[in-house]
Amino acid sequence: LVSRDNHPERSTVRVGGVPIGPDTVTLIAGPCAVETPEQTLAAARMAAAAGATLLRGGAYKPRTSPYAFQGLGEAGLRILAEVRAETGLPIVTEVVDAHDVELVASYADMLQIGTRNAQNFALLQAVGGIGKPVMLKRGMNATIEEWLMAAEYIAQRGNLDIVLCERGIRTFETATRNTLDVSAVPVAQRLSHLPVIIDPSHSGGRRDLVLPLTRAAIAVGADGVIIDVHPRPELALCDGPQALVDGDLDELARVMREFPALLGKS
Ligand code: PEP
Repeated sequence: LVSRDNHPERSTVRVGGVPIGPDTVTLIAGPCAVETPEQTLAAARMAAAAGATLLRGGAYKPRTSPYAFQGLGEAGLRILAEVRAETGLPIVTEVVDAHDVELVASYADMLQIGTRNAQNFALLQAVGGIGKPVMLKRGMNATIEEWLMAAEYIAQRGNLDIVLCERGIRTFETATRNTLDVSAVPVAQRLSHLPVIIDPSHSGGRRDLVLPLTRAAIAVGADGVIIDVHPRPELALCDGPQALVDGDLDELARVMREFPALLGKS
């Protein structure tokens, strides 16, 4: 269902009216985690200032340590809905448990499946049946074939509004948190008609790498990027070191304005 063999045209997925597909490079930005209404609104305004048309933000955080901040749950979803009402930005947010799919979908415009759940087949089937667009992160240890098969689990339930997201894979390298596999973009785009985006924040895990990796993402043909921003990263409850700050926004806006245009995209 997701293969290009039976569907040669590349697909565009619409999220609350915002296109993600071959003609555009969509910027999705926002806080890694929803922490407070003020922090989320400030991050959403930063995102919009950089040209983002979709707001990201996690209310359910799949953390490596059970002692780390796990997200605000439904209270976080309510904050996202308030910020959407205030800014007009549709919401992308993660769901980590099949039992929460209906609840998260009642707030979200797009459901995110994180790298750690990329082969949670019950969860993939649940999001496939809920009728909302899905962003499927690549498992950090998944081959491209396994990633596409995970997408097939969603598609099989009748949902072809799927966006693939390369977010770095595990390698021997320790200088970056994960190794961004830029070749995954053209490879996946050749094999599948689904849009493919890149997460330069979670792949590098470092603020100073986000803009270089964003430029690489656009150059290699990604259909979008999803980027963490935070008004006070030193206080962030999750992944502060990779969040862009106010001082980075002009350059991000410039890259998003100029780089896609070089490739004939908007
Ligand atoms: C995220 O985008 O909030 C996230 C946790 O990403 P990943 O699943 O890629 O680690």
